[in-house]
Amino acid sequence: MILMKKVHKSYIMGNNSLHVLKGIDLAIEPGEMVSIMGSSGSGKSTLLNVIGLLDTYDAGEYYLEGKLVREMNETQAARLRNRTLGFVFQSFNLIAFKTALENVALPLYYQGVGRKKRNAIAMDYLEQVGLREWADHLPSELSGGQKQRVAIARALIAQPKVILADEPTGALDSQTSIEVMDVLREVNRKGITVIIVTHEQDVAQRTDRIIRIKDGVIGENIILRPSVEHIAV
Ligand code: ADP
Ligand code: MG
Repeated sequence: MILMKKVHKSYIMGNNSLHVLKGIDLAIEPGEMVSIMGSSGSGKSTLLNVIGLLDTYDAGEYYLEGKLVREMNETQAARLRNRTLGFVFQSFNLIAFKTALENVALPLYYQGVGRKKRNAIAMDYLEQVGLREWADHLPSELSGGQKQRVAIARALIAQPKVILADEPTGALDSQTSIEVMDVLREVNRKGITVIIVTHEQDVAQRTDRIIRIKDGVIGENIILRPSVEHIAV
C-alpha cells in the first residue's frame, strides 16, 4: 500500500536548508492501523504530508499502491490522492457556515453529485459516526469530538483506501480522544488503512503498530497486535 525507500526531504528557506527526513524506510500494508510517533519537530507531519501527496520529497522512492510517486505530475498525483486518500486534521477544518451534513457532503459537491443524492449519502456517513441527529447543526454547535467525527465522515465519503490523520485527538480531552479512536477503529474494521500521527502514548496504544521517527529516520517499530490482514489469513 505504502512503501518508502530511503526517502529524504529538506525545507529550503533562503540560504538555509533544514534536512527533516533523512532516509525513511517504511512499509504499511493494506488494512493496517498504525501510529507514527516522535517528538515535536521530528518530522511527523512532514512524513504524513509526503505520504498524502500534499508535499514532494527530494530523494529516495515512494510507492503508493505500487505507483512511484516521483514520476507523477501534479494532475496525476491529485487524481491518485482524491481516489485513494482521506485526511483528518487536528483542527477539524470544517467550514463554519455549513451544517454538519453539508460539510460531509462537500467532497461529493466537488465531484458534481447532485444535492439530493449527496445529502442522502452524507446522511449515511453521519449515521456511521453516530451523528444523524446533528446533521443540521453548524460546527460551532458541536463539541470537539463531534466535530472530529464530522471530519472523519467527510474523509470517508470519497471512499478512500487510506485515512491519514495528523494529531486527530490533539485538540480533545482524553475521554473524547478515546471516542474518536473508537470511530477510527470502526473505520479500520471496514478494511480501510488508518495512519495516525500522534504524540500521545495512549492514542498510539490503540493502534496495531507504533512507528517511531527519530533524527529523521524510523527508529523503533513496535507491533502491539496482529493487524486485521494477519488475522484473516
Ligand atoms: P512534527 O509534525 O513532528 O512536529 P514537522 O514535520 O511539522 O514536525 O516539522 C519538522 C521540522 O520541519 C520542524 O523543525 C519544522 O519547523 C520544520 N518545517 C515544517 N514545515 C516547514 C515548512 N513548510 N518550511 C520550513 N520548515 C518547516
Ligand atoms: Mg506535526
